[in-house]
Amino acid sequence: MTQRLEGKKALITGAGSGIGGAIAELFAREGADLALLDMDAEAVVRLSQDLHAQTGRRCLPLHADVTDAARINACFAETVDTLGRIDILINCAGVNVFRDPLTLEAAEWDRCFDVNLRGAWHCISAALPSMLANGYGHVVNIASVHGHKIIPGSFPYPVAKHGLIGLTRSLGIEYASRGIRVNSISPGLIMTPAAERWLASCPDPEAERQRQADLLPGKRIGEPSEVAYTALFLASDEARFINATDILIDGGRSQLYHA
Ligand code: NAP
Repeated sequence: MTQRLEGKKALITGAGSGIGGAIAELFAREGADLALLDMDAEAVVRLSQDLHAQTGRRCLPLHADVTDAARINACFAETVDTLGRIDILINCAGVNVFRDPLTLEAAEWDRCFDVNLRGAWHCISAALPSMLANGYGHVVNIASVHGHKIIPGSFPYPVAKHGLIGLTRSLGIEYASRGIRVNSISPGLIMTPAAERWLASCPDPEAERQRQADLLPGKRIGEPSEVAYTALFLASDEARFINATDILIDGGRSQLYHA
């Protein structure tokens, strides 16, 4: 490993599964000390123990729901107490809410925006005091191709992900002169437990898996580690002049007009 994050302190939300878990593994191997936050307490405790054993990095498991601002503030304070500061924040916690607009319930709308948008803001506002005090911080929000293009049947998730890209741009500009960068990554379909659950809900999961792969120019679905490497670049000083922007990682799918 190249130790591209040596000495850095990173807090990753949604670290208990999928893309967030892959980012945690890569960041630990690249030398960062970690705070791993998720609603799934067992998953982050297990991952913290495994990564500490494998890499020797400090790994603090945090059990929290990103929609709970008070709990998030407490978790970030514990992280600063334990690790000393927060250099990097990865906002990866997210939920798929795909509904027919006319039958969408108010509670589903609220959950979609509370987790995918407000939750990211809770975490950024909780990380800012430490980052501003040090004049240094990199935030990476995990958005989606749904933040750029619309797939029928997926409302209101794309609205929240468009909002997350807007949050990225807005805060990137707001804090640029004080040493803080805010960027986002927009993955296409990535094979994670959430994607597996969605496939399993389709009438013919294997046919849908093949259909999804065939839609992609490279004829394959993305892997969590491929998003993790993009997060590593954006969270490192290699990307120090990249701010308030979004990187699409979808194998080129969103540039395609006709197959
Ligand atoms: P995943 O496998 O379901 O992992 C998400 C993790 O976040 C889970 O451990 C989940 O815990 C946790 N989480 C959910 N809501 C939370 C909350 N309110 N507070 C704290 N933790 C919470 O999903 P994934 O596919 O890796 O997705 C990760 C991110 O990438 C999401 O933001 C998603 O929108 C985005 N994304 C994914 C894809 C894809 O194709 N996979 C594509 C584009 C964007 P529980 O399991 O306990 O709910």
